[in-house]
Amino acid sequence: MRLVIDPTRCHGHGTCAQLLDEYIRLDKWHYPIVGKQKVSAGHADLLMRASQLCPELAISIVDD
Ligand code: SF4
Repeated sequence: MRLVIDPTRCHGHGTCAQLLDEYIRLDKWHYPIVGKQKVSAGHADLLMRASQLCPELAISIVDD
């Protein structure tokens, strides 16, 4: 499981990085930078929460 952010939707609110600081860091304009690492099963709830709280609905969860 990993997270994907749609850059055409993201407005750089930064909420996601607060919730998922192990997976997301912000650039100097407060836009998220996401690596390709998988999210551990123990963080699945947190990932779901970040996805739901994103005001632009820019976060998708990909199962691969
Ligand atoms: S919470 Fe959503 S809109 Fe805000 S930085 Fe994260 S992905 Fe972008």
